[in-house]
Amino acid sequence: MDTGVYPRKKEIKVIIMIERTLVLIKSDGVLRGIVGEVIRRFENAGMKIVGMKMVWVNKKFAEEHYKIHSKKQFFKTLVNYITEGPVVATVIEGVHAVDNVRKIVGSTSPSDAAPGTIRGDYSHMSMAHADKNKKAGKNIIHASDKSQTAKKEIALWFDKKELHTYKTVHEKHVF
Ligand code: UDP
Ligand code: MG
Repeated sequence: MDTGVYPRKKEIKVIIMIERTLVLIKSDGVLRGIVGEVIRRFENAGMKIVGMKMVWVNKKFAEEHYKIHSKKQFFKTLVNYITEGPVVATVIEGVHAVDNVRKIVGSTSPSDAAPGTIRGDYSHMSMAHADKNKKAGKNIIHASDKSQTAKKEIALWFDKKELHTYKTVHEKHVF
């Protein structure tokens, strides 16, 4: 019989993983004027913006950020893509923020990204199409892929004093 009461152990040890992750609204997102739309998704999910700025990075900085891809055939177009206009760099804080942000962002190739995700809702091209036309795979947003990567990327993009610790109204008045 379904009593509607979910079984609970007497003691549940919950590890709350508050993390910070780097999110970049890449040049196509800025040039298309959808910065607000993109940021809203994270705020709607209850995550917190703890750092935010607009930066137009040079090639050297872009190469450092994407150095893990330096041997890939798309490296040059990727560096050109991220430097063709300013990007909005943010640090998002939340529970399991790295994975949760990636979930909201969607798959790398817009053609695979599910509707409801940022990449799925605001882009549609495939990486194969981009490659064939010698174009970058424009997919609006970058988000750190692992906790360790997030730490490194945040340190690259932000000074400590640019990151803020504060309580949202929910934290202040509800919890
Ligand atoms: N990219 C590309 N062609 C590819 C694969 C990736 O132009 O075949 C670009 C795309 O913009 C992607 C970025 O390179 O977001 C970094 O690739 P990664 O595999 O790290 O994807 P992400 O972590 O951004 O989902
Ligand atoms: Mg990546």
